[in-house]
Amino acid sequence: CGIVGYNGALDAKEILLKGLEKLEYRGYDSAGIAVRNEEGITVFKEKGRIADLRASVNLNVNADIGIGHTRWATHGVPNKLNAHPHQSASGRYTLVHNGVIENYHLLQKAYLKGIQMQSDTDTEVIVQLIDLFANEGLSTVEAFRKTLSLLHGSYALALLDQEDADTIYVAKNKSPLLVGVGESFNVVASDAMAMLQVTDQFIELRDKEVVLVHKDRVEISTLEGRAVDRKPFTAELDA
Ligand code: GLU
Repeated sequence: CGIVGYNGALDAKEILLKGLEKLEYRGYDSAGIAVRNEEGITVFKEKGRIADLRASVNLNVNADIGIGHTRWATHGVPNKLNAHPHQSASGRYTLVHNGVIENYHLLQKAYLKGIQMQSDTDTEVIVQLIDLFANEGLSTVEAFRKTLSLLHGSYALALLDQEDADTIYVAKNKSPLLVGVGESFNVVASDAMAMLQVTDQFIELRDKEVVLVHKDRVEISTLEGRAVDRKPFTAELDA
């Protein structure tokens, strides 16, 4: 399983699909991407190979920001409905997740009683919580922070906000995730290998940091909100 993200000037689809192909070695049962442009967020997902996903992607949807996922099912059978990305009920937020949320059922009972869940995954609870808290008046980064503080388990996350053309919201806990830095673009990947196609400069993330990946800069802070300054390292190009 794995995660990729791209935020820059080029069309995101091809970079995301190539990135997912590089992550195929990790094993997966389904895959998907979401891209955002002026018309909104479009999700493509399929059970099976990246080739099947590639065949389902509408080449006319151009977008310069997007996220992608290969899934190794832990909660909910491998099918198209349970494949990531997952969207909140309002459609505002779109999320990919690797890992396991141990308290998802408790969170669902405590906060999301009125929400009709669309999948059998633990992941969907995360995106519904973010939407709920944003709906209650929090900014997206505040809603993201509050949600992270409630989660028990392992995660690598990448989130898109329909109302924000310039940010991928990212966090990890006990699952691998890196941010890649480029000239006028930035990327996200579970493994540097997935994004060596565009950069060899990567920033390591610590557990529970809140990371905002913009087109021209990366903002890292602790869960409590203290700014973090961390320089990129150069990834080894062993083929
Ligand atoms: N627990 C999530 C699911 O079953 C994510 C699995 C993964 O790491 O791919 O959908």
